[in-house]
Amino acid sequence: ARDLSKLFPGPKKLFTPARFVTAVDRVSLAVMPGETLAIVGESGSGKSTLGRLLLRLLAASEGRVFYQGEEITHASGSRLNQLRRELQIIFQDPFASLNPRMTVEQIVGEPLWLHQNMKKPDRQYRVAELLKTVGLPAAWAGRYPHEFSGGQRQRIGIARALASGPKLLLGDEPVSALDVSVQAQVVNLLESLKHQLGLTMVIVAHGLAVIRHMSDRVAVMYLGQIVELATVDEIFDAPLHPYTQALIASAPQMQPGMQRETPLLQGDLPNPANPPSGCRFHTRCPYVTDECRQVEPITQVLDGGRQVSCHRWQDINRDRSVIQIAPP
Ligand code: SF4
Ligand code: MG
Repeated sequence: ARDLSKLFPGPKKLFTPARFVTAVDRVSLAVMPGETLAIVGESGSGKSTLGRLLLRLLAASEGRVFYQGEEITHASGSRLNQLRRELQIIFQDPFASLNPRMTVEQIVGEPLWLHQNMKKPDRQYRVAELLKTVGLPAAWAGRYPHEFSGGQRQRIGIARALASGPKLLLGDEPVSALDVSVQAQVVNLLESLKHQLGLTMVIVAHGLAVIRHMSDRVAVMYLGQIVELATVDEIFDAPLHPYTQALIASAPQMQPGMQRETPLLQGDLPNPANPPSGCRFHTRCPYVTDECRQVEPITQVLDGGRQVSCHRWQDINRDRSVIQIAPP
């Protein structure tokens, strides 16, 4: 993605001019074949919108999207249909995303006739295979969604996403609607499918716990912008951006009783329709200066491709001496 932006019309109010909310603001990033990239942020950060822009489920307001070197920003018609097969999504809420009047066979089989015009006997065979792939008995194909538990329904959603033979799978908070006890099972399933099928994955999440175990790199979003992008170990072991540091510090502690070293996030996410000037994080940042209030930080690319957007990242992380700016 290059300089991707997405604007939505904001809520209408009397006596004020119509505003637009910039849900995604000039985002550039690359998803590498075979990797799992996590996009993390609070709700309202634009992470789901960014995911949908990458898949061309939404059209960008500005900027360009490429897939395997081909620009797909304006793809339409049969090319867009083909892209729909290769770029698939798993939704957050397995309850809302499955049609209650359709059997599992119809739900999972739908992409097979839609995209591949597959006839019934072949389709039944393929649905049975897909159910087995996601760990459900093939004999349950005639049942309806309400007959399944939350975790099982998410498995049906995954089977449907796999039916068209995708190369890239976007999980939009794929486990956050599930019981904690079931989350790990679905995460493990996604992990094993990724290796088995050679998938590339983009996982959108607001919690860090889930992505630690399943992602290679993490993009941290704040009010429509990526503030830090790094490998999962860098993000968790040595976060550079104050917002990432706060997110890590406010994540549930792995070891109870451990002291928090970084101040927790203070205050709420500012109104995305009227974002703060300068650095958008300045209203909540413990390190804020006048420069931060006035000047928007530019994204710096460090050795190894790590990215951070903060005027003071070097100051703040002075004791971490290994980090160097890559030559231009
Ligand atoms: Fe904080 Fe300033 Fe860095 Fe923004 S630019 S994150 S306000 S130190
Ligand atoms: Mg969302």
